[in-house]
Amino acid sequence: MKVIKSVDELREYVAGLNGSIGLVPTMGALHEGHMSLIKRAVSESKNVIVSIFVNPTQFLPDEDLHKYPRKEEADIKICELCGASAVFMPSADDMYFENEPCVIAPPKFASILEGKTRPGHFDGVLRVLTKLFNLTKANRAYFGKKDAQQLLIVKNMVKTMFLNIEIIACEIIRESDGLALSSRNAYLKEIDKCNALRLSRSLFNASNMIKNGETDAAKIKESMLNTLEPLEVDYVAIVDREFNEISNIKLTDTIILVAAKVGNTRLIDNIWI
Ligand code: AMP
Repeated sequence: MKVIKSVDELREYVAGLNGSIGLVPTMGALHEGHMSLIKRAVSESKNVIVSIFVNPTQFLPDEDLHKYPRKEEADIKICELCGASAVFMPSADDMYFENEPCVIAPPKFASILEGKTRPGHFDGVLRVLTKLFNLTKANRAYFGKKDAQQLLIVKNMVKTMFLNIEIIACEIIRESDGLALSSRNAYLKEIDKCNALRLSRSLFNASNMIKNGETDAAKIKESMLNTLEPLEVDYVAIVDREFNEISNIKLTDTIILVAAKVGNTRLIDNIWI
């Protein structure tokens, strides 16, 4: 497996590739969620490039850019174990220029939920992905459903900008107790772990209510908020696949999302009905 640390090196590497290229964009501190994406990419593409880049433009000034977990050596080993062909770990100086066109995610999708609390976040995500898609010339890119809103916004960019890349959505990987894997789980103190489970539990309860015939979104949200108590809840939302809020559950077209703070750590989770 090749470890690539500069844009020039990546260009040279990509120019020499034959066969299909799969890209797995990540911010590192890799866990089994990331591994599932890499393994899926390896099973479908001849060459798999994993990017590991803590992208500064998707963090707000008061967010955790500088303390975001960085585990370069362990990440390289994980990528190799999963069968990746190359890891791309650029510096921010290499990726960004002083003068660049603006990339703005559509407000309809980017100003709600995550984007409401993290204005500009999705602009930064699309900015870095545009660069990664162009540099790697990937045929496919793999994203987790864990970041459901990101997935929608990326798919929208690919469709509307006529990008020649297929976006593959991968299932959420959870701990055996239900907690969705996240690099930010590393911030959780022992005492927070029980409370962190409230997010997945609230979603599983919602899913059970639906299985038992409940279709009223307001009742489901109320029950979720009870389960989430005493966490500081940012949002509980029930939307269709286009992220329009819905008041009645539509089977096969509903996503239930939650964001809440556990201690100082903001966690997100969701379930696709
Ligand atoms: P990140 O490193 O957090 O930017 O995540 C990189 C990619 O991994 C994104 O497409 C995430 O949606 C995906 N991902 C993160 N956590 C999980 C998980 N628990 N299950 C599946 N995919 C995940």
